[in-house]
Amino acid sequence: MELIAPITGMNDVLPEKAAAWQYVERLARELFAAYGYEELRVPLLEQTALFKRAIGEFTDIVEKEMFTFEDRSGDSLTLRPEATAGIARAAISNGLLHNQRHRFYTMGPMFRGERPQKGRYRQFHQIDAEAYGYAGPDVDAELILLSARLWKRLGITGLTLEINSLGTPESRRVHRAALVEYFSRHESALDADSRRRLGGNPLRILDSKNPALAELILGAPKLADYLDAESQAHFDGLRQRLDDSGVAYTVNPRLVRGLDYYTRTVFEWVTSAWGAQNAVCSGGRYDGLVGQLGGEPTQAVGWALGIERVVLLLEEQGRGVVAQPPHVFFVMVGAAAERLGLRIAEQLRDAHPTLRLEAGLGGGSFKSQFRRADKSGAAVAIVLGDGEAEKGVVALKPLRLGGEQAEVGIAALAGRLGELLELG
Ligand code: ATP
Ligand code: MG
Repeated sequence: MELIAPITGMNDVLPEKAAAWQYVERLARELFAAYGYEELRVPLLEQTALFKRAIGEFTDIVEKEMFTFEDRSGDSLTLRPEATAGIARAAISNGLLHNQRHRFYTMGPMFRGERPQKGRYRQFHQIDAEAYGYAGPDVDAELILLSARLWKRLGITGLTLEINSLGTPESRRVHRAALVEYFSRHESALDADSRRRLGGNPLRILDSKNPALAELILGAPKLADYLDAESQAHFDGLRQRLDDSGVAYTVNPRLVRGLDYYTRTVFEWVTSAWGAQNAVCSGGRYDGLVGQLGGEPTQAVGWALGIERVVLLLEEQGRGVVAQPPHVFFVMVGAAAERLGLRIAEQLRDAHPTLRLEAGLGGGSFKSQFRRADKSGAAVAIVLGDGEAEKGVVALKPLRLGGEQAEVGIAALAGRLGELLELG
């Protein structure tokens, strides 16, 4: 029969890789708890209009990357390409913004129809942090400090922090006019994408990844020269706090980010390891978004990191994470032994909630089960044959611990295992 292939750019995470994913997610959850960020889970599907309005019509994501389809009643739905729009929508839908402050986080799959390559997939996964109701720059700094602490906890090195300020919509309008003037003068040098954006959102041209445009972009009018005084002070405040905390950064005046909703602070943690897929964690302030979505205008700032890219860094930096082996492999041979063994295993799990016990299910000789026990990496084997079952004992056999094989009465087994494995 013809095999059903997986969808291009959508990957299975096999158990040997999942350990690293769990590690990243667990450390992130610990840090979110430590900083007072609460989990907010939002749907994978939203109305297409949400992303169009939030991310912007003239962005790569909305122009060509969204998985959009009509449901049975003809409504246009889109698989979320990022989390911020959904979180902002949820904050509005649930009335969480009136006179309130919130710090949220979420994690899970995002969908973008990009060309798959190393570190770039069509279903990928983000960890996402957002703060609502804070004017900053204190919270902008805190979000960056949180991410810096995550790299430290994970043991990832070599990431550099780039920051910039996009100012307010007003200061951007002035800058926009200068950009249009500049790029119109060089229109023949632009590629098709950029020419289209010249009319729609010329700031987007600065985000182009086309190397042929690099020099032209370098010479373009800089936002920094058009920044309003308040945005300048906000940006200085952020820099001060990063300096206070000893977090190194570079100011990259060409950092504009690929989404339209940003104002003031934008930043990216980048690696030099992989060419164009260099962003590991990106974010910024989006004070206008909630209002734009019809909510009560609310200041907001956040970031998202790509779990695949973080896991890739862990691997490449030799910080591979291996799954924890079971403490115990339970060898059970014979019909009576298998029935009793299953019961004993449950009793042991009652006695030791942290015990990792793999039962030798599916039958097989002592020899084949010991082979499985060895392969499992377990520290100890419990051995139960029909003879032992009749006597009410098991054999405890150290596999990766010192000591000799010993017979233990079933009633004493939980206590003996607890001592041997130092289970808390
Ligand atoms: P890039 O410049 O690499 O396209 P981006 O600016 O589109 O990234 P964001 O939309 O800010 O990225 O998403 C935040 C993070 O999600 C990125 O820093 C990156 O780690 C990760 N990411 C984005 N797109 C993908 C993808 N297609 N596959 C895997 N990870 C991704
Ligand atoms: Mg992108």
